[in-house]
Amino acid sequence: MLTTAPRGTRDILPEEAVRWQYVEQVIRECCNLYGYGEIRPPLFEHTELFQRSVGEATDIVEKEMYTFKDRGGRSITLRPEATASTVRAYLEHNLNAGPQPVKMYYLGPMFRYDRPQAGRYRQFSQFGIEAIGAQDPTVDAEVIAVALGLCSRLGLTELEVELNSIGCPQCRQDYRQALLSYLGEHKDNLCTTCLNRMDRNPLRVLDCKEESCREVTAKAPRMLEYLCPECAEHFKTVQGCLQGIGAKHVLNPTLVRGLDYYTKTVFEITWSGLGAQTAICGGGRYDGLVEECGGPSTPGVGFAMGLDRLLLAIEETGITLPSQNQPVAYVVAVSKADNQEAFTILTRLRRAGIASDKDYRETSLRAQLKAANRCGARFTVLVGGVERTRGAVAVRHMVTGEQQEVPLSQLTTFLQEGM
Ligand code: AMP
Repeated sequence: MLTTAPRGTRDILPEEAVRWQYVEQVIRECCNLYGYGEIRPPLFEHTELFQRSVGEATDIVEKEMYTFKDRGGRSITLRPEATASTVRAYLEHNLNAGPQPVKMYYLGPMFRYDRPQAGRYRQFSQFGIEAIGAQDPTVDAEVIAVALGLCSRLGLTELEVELNSIGCPQCRQDYRQALLSYLGEHKDNLCTTCLNRMDRNPLRVLDCKEESCREVTAKAPRMLEYLCPECAEHFKTVQGCLQGIGAKHVLNPTLVRGLDYYTKTVFEITWSGLGAQTAICGGGRYDGLVEECGGPSTPGVGFAMGLDRLLLAIEETGITLPSQNQPVAYVVAVSKADNQEAFTILTRLRRAGIASDKDYRETSLRAQLKAANRCGARFTVLVGGVERTRGAVAVRHMVTGEQQEVPLSQLTTFLQEGM
């Protein structure tokens, strides 16, 4: 137990972390391009925030939260998602008083007590954006454009965008009734989870992956046919905007999303190469959420993208991202007596901004040169021998094998020119 990470968690080792850093950098550039500023909310919040915002009848709140009492007796939950925190921060810092919408993005770990499998973890990373304070349907389209823009910058193109509208509380009421009466007629074919869910949140039945439930829901009444004129108009504009920018999408009438707070537009971006866990990104509009969290009625729209899955998809597609940075120089002590001087020179190179490393094992010169080769350094700096007595070092170019004496005073310039 001491030597394995908890189930559903994993280490991202340096070689893989370079790929994460690259993706995170592209995310930041992308957000900057679209005018989203970073928010770094805490990793835990009061449990009530998620109960209120994500919703009591959701899988997350019912069975997936890491909830505990802190030493002061408060109920605390490790964040299972970050929209709730972003909305809480929007209210806490009176961001509604400034220009609207407030556009923010976050990046970081989320925690859900999920059943781990490939692409599904108990600690996973999400990148998400939120635009709070605008009703305009072009913002819905912008949010989808950010997700697609990011994927295309990373070289991921074979994606599917599924789109639906789940209306507003008014039109959804009529739909809910129609759906309930339809489901009531097909109770015998629904799984026990759906039977339990039906009265509290019948829309979630549409989300069920059980084959028998899917057969029932395939013929269920469709929300799009119940949209009120305002919701229908909104949805039409979102679709028009997506068409206008060449963002292909398909309508999926059973797409409802797992969280309670969505209204109007909902969408999911999938990549079929991911096996069972095809969803890379999910989001939508949540016009009731700010009010649910105790603020004034304020519209909002956003998405969350799973970075673990995004990186898996990039890998599966065969896209090459930058690999680990290799040092420019590898410093080698010719004899044990040169070790301290080698360390001084190494530090000087690093202070000059030249990525460098050394061998720390006090092994033979041959072994050190081998290590220099293995780490992919462009130059090896040999400290010792007759060169040292002349205040110089021998620099070997690792590709050509050429070696030359370089005075210490010129070493950094010499390496910088060869960088
Ligand atoms: P959600 O917040 O459930 O809408 O999820 C948004 C995205 O986060 C999904 O499309 C996934 O890519 C990712 N995601 C959600 N749960 C997990 C998990 N347990 N492990 C890895 N990625 C996840």
